[in-house]
Amino acid sequence: MAQTVAFIGLGNMGGPMAGNLVKAGYKVNAFDLAEAAKKHAVELGCSISATPAEAVQGADVIVTMLPSGPIVESVMIDKDALLDKIAKGTLVIDCSTVGPENSRRVAAEAVKRGIRFVDAPVSGGTAGAAAGTLAFMCGGPAEDFAAAKVVLEKMGSNIFHAGDYGAGSVAKICNNMLLAIHMIGTAEALQLGINNGLDPKVLSGIMLKSSGANWSLEKYNPVPGVQENVPSSKNYAGGFMVKLMQKDLGLALTAARLSNSTILFGALASNLYGVHAKSKEGTVDLDFSSILKLYEQH
Ligand code: NAD
Repeated sequence: MAQTVAFIGLGNMGGPMAGNLVKAGYKVNAFDLAEAAKKHAVELGCSISATPAEAVQGADVIVTMLPSGPIVESVMIDKDALLDKIAKGTLVIDCSTVGPENSRRVAAEAVKRGIRFVDAPVSGGTAGAAAGTLAFMCGGPAEDFAAAKVVLEKMGSNIFHAGDYGAGSVAKICNNMLLAIHMIGTAEALQLGINNGLDPKVLSGIMLKSSGANWSLEKYNPVPGVQENVPSSKNYAGGFMVKLMQKDLGLALTAARLSNSTILFGALASNLYGVHAKSKEGTVDLDFSSILKLYEQH
């Protein structure tokens, strides 16, 4: 088992993920730019490094959980140039949600230096990160995936090998685009029922046993009060924020452009979340199931 992990990016996701590695017995040398994130990571048992370069010194595995592809490239290749400071043979696992082109660029630069790389974005949100039940979608050579799996299993319960470099990022983008589409469809159908006098609980029960059943309806009903313990029943607090869904739909649009793919519903979903995010109510920080509000108002 790898003994030392360098963990870079200790935010809402990275903090609890690093904490789970500590619980599993790893020594975790962590780095983040934000003081609050560093403080929280110390409480979870991580050692804080003064710089990213210090964090990767002597690490067997490096995990990054950063806000975007350009930031991952800046940390690994450009500004911090960590790939020049990492020993040959070290395994880098990027868990951030990024474009496949970002993953492939970092992979190519890593391979040039004899460093192993796996893109491994996640599904499961902050609750999954805290519980250690994330799904990881991985891209990279089979032997590097096998090595990454040993570490990822300490933070998640489903670890998939999607294909070569960038395939994990492609899988993540496809999944979240579909999630946005069926959440929007579910909200639209439920509001149509409500506007025609149906109780959303009754309608949800009918559709769950009929051909309209889907994950949003089953696990994440967007109408407040239909299910307990989902964001819609907590004023859309917690969960997966509208701004994060907008980010992922933006990545889907870019991936579609670069691969000459048609994504009609993906583009519509991106536009609908864009309209929703402009609401004066300040919806960007609400859970993405709050898209129901758009249908309540129009
Ligand atoms: P976050 O903003 O809470 O955390 C990101 C952290 O990275 C912050 O603490 C920030 O200070 C740090 N950071 C930024 N630039 C840095 C740099 N140059 N060096 C070191 N640290 C730096 O974001 P999050 O919610 O933890 O999301 C992280 C990634 O996971 C994103 O790519 C996001 O799309 C993805 N994701 C998030 C969720 C979710 O529900 N929050 C779910 C799935 C995937």
